[in-house]
Amino acid sequence: MGSDNVKTRFAPSPTGFLHVGGARTALFNWLFARRHGGKFVLRIEDTDQVRSTAQSAAGILQDMLWLGLNWDEGPVVGGGKNQYFQSMRLEIYQPYLEQLIREDRAYEAFETPQQLAAMRAESEKRKTPFRYRRNMPGRAKKGEGPVVIRLEMPWEEIRFQDNILGEIRVAGVEHDDIVIRKSDGFPTYHFAVVIDDHDMGITHVLRAQEHLMNTPKHLALYAALNWRPPLYAHLPLVFNMDNSKMSKRDKTKAVRAALQLYARQRQDPAFAQLAGRCGLPAGGIADFVARKTEDSTLAGKLAEALDVELPEIDVQDFRHSGYLSDALVNFIALIGWSPGQNREFLTRREMIDLFSLENIGKTSGRFDRKKLHWMNGEYIRRSSLQELAAAVESFNQVTDYPIKQADGPTLRVLLAMYQERMATLAEMARNSTFFFCTPRYDQAAVKKYVQTGDGRTILERILELLQPITPWNKELLSPVLERILAMGEKRGAAAQVLRVAVSGGAVSPPLLETLALLGRDTTLSRIQQALEMFAPVEKTTDS
Ligand code: GLU
Repeated sequence: MGSDNVKTRFAPSPTGFLHVGGARTALFNWLFARRHGGKFVLRIEDTDQVRSTAQSAAGILQDMLWLGLNWDEGPVVGGGKNQYFQSMRLEIYQPYLEQLIREDRAYEAFETPQQLAAMRAESEKRKTPFRYRRNMPGRAKKGEGPVVIRLEMPWEEIRFQDNILGEIRVAGVEHDDIVIRKSDGFPTYHFAVVIDDHDMGITHVLRAQEHLMNTPKHLALYAALNWRPPLYAHLPLVFNMDNSKMSKRDKTKAVRAALQLYARQRQDPAFAQLAGRCGLPAGGIADFVARKTEDSTLAGKLAEALDVELPEIDVQDFRHSGYLSDALVNFIALIGWSPGQNREFLTRREMIDLFSLENIGKTSGRFDRKKLHWMNGEYIRRSSLQELAAAVESFNQVTDYPIKQADGPTLRVLLAMYQERMATLAEMARNSTFFFCTPRYDQAAVKKYVQTGDGRTILERILELLQPITPWNKELLSPVLERILAMGEKRGAAAQVLRVAVSGGAVSPPLLETLALLGRDTTLSRIQQALEMFAPVEKTTDS
């Protein structure tokens, strides 16, 4: 392969967030270009004026940068011009459209959407798939409806060699004269993608298998324009572990399941109480449960109120959940691609060196969340504190946990404490909240350790032992903690009382580090507060 002229592209439509499947497509194109010392282009396909938004495009660029998938040509990079947004390239498409009409390879069509729907219904009745062809009877006449331009597709079979799937053939009867210019004057995806891939010198198109049946259409356009097409490779799809499609609906599904459970537990099928709590109309929740709406903002509010964790689908979901971009990239690279020798942990450099289309599978891949979670934990453990601090800084840009308040030295201490005990940065952010705010006391733990038996007496004793310590540092704290550990009948039981009083729960990082970081004033005042707040519980005979 003439390596130095390889040019790939990632061409997302900015109609939402960057889906993790899309990120995998971007990654494979990036890896292939880097492997061959070629170029990687980012192009925004915003020809759908209704569904495309500038906000979505900006989000996609941000996600790409977060993933570390830098582009050699594209928005911002390509010389400051807006050349890489299709909506800014209309005059580039126009001459080719005129050429195809002049050469009688493309023609005007006038059907209204209703007429097309009726034609489709008619075909369905006859149990034949609907194909719009130039020579078919009953085509609408000029002036009847909006004008679109269609390409006259060939009548023969189209064959091509897919670099992953092998030979693909589509019979002549299957072809449909595709619309290449819409009635709003914009090119369709099919037209713009071909002109752009040619114009930008793309040599290899790696895209999801859902586009496989678009390729014959694109090849027909290349033939009509007398251009040499790029090589195609269609990537296996990414599915959930249960073989369902990974879609943003997985999030609303999770919220619905939680709502059903909530309604059952509280005998409140109307969700009146919950709606009141979130400031939502009760009917809104009922509509959501009845699938009348898929409103993601509503779903987000409900998820928060019900304390459900939503499955991550888009790249930004993973970023919010505290995945490291290196771990996510490593994980998605392995969906459908095998580097050989059972290798799992690969740096970007290693991925680039090993990447080849031959090692991409034909069948769909599975997204194993448990494995990603584990892998992320491994990445965290293999990272330096400096790398982790940088990751937390990036995490803090998109989230709002109290850990944001930590200054550099505090963050380092926290990272050293949590590095071994977290799988995601969000776990650390949630679990370390008590360092920054009054703890949310776990009532069961409070009852078990502080309010029962001689818990309070132990706590009073601990307070007496800690009070004289100055300066408050690990050297002086350490022998006192040793004494606390030895207190009572069971070693460590007293430490649990202390842990609950200062952190709110029975699980926290080691006490020595925890107390040192909390500082003298906070530690002592939390113990005092716990003694005031938590009165002993009356002993009952039936428990
Ligand atoms: N804009 C298309 C999409 O987002 C790209 C398809 C292609 O790669 O050709 O699905």
